Amino acid sequence: MSADEQVTKTDEQWREELSPEQYAVLRGQATEPPFTGEYAMTKDAGVYRCAGCGAELFASDTKFDSGTGWPSFTEPAVADAVETKTDVSHGMIRTEVVCRRCGGHLGHVFDDGPGETGLRYCINSAALDLERAGD
Ligand code: FE
Repeated sequence: MSADEQVTKTDEQWREELSPEQYAVLRGQATEPPFTGEYAMTKDAGVYRCAGCGAELFASDTKFDSGTGWPSFTEPAVADAVETKTDVSHGMIRTEVVCRRCGGHLGHVFDDGPGETGLRYCINSAALDLERAGD
């Protein structure tokens, strides 16, 4: 599958393929509780792929400890692997981050990041699948 090919599935298909946690985040815009996700504190080297479609989204060398309890990155691994949307839910104005290939909800991006980009991609572990270096 090429990187720019869209993945389109029915809600029923997503329900069958994803775990309940993955489905709630990716297809239902849920946010996992902080410090509970599989990758909240992970420092292992590798590539973080979309748990929905396998697209390469983030690299471990851009991951940093934000103290928030969610995996945090300064930038996507591939600039156009993710897209952003304005999210006005829950009485806040935030910028939602979605996987470009499958449209899955990943998390939000904030402008208080520590790196050159100044961005903090705050991503749910349930939306990610870490392919550890050497695996
Ligand atoms: Fe995806």
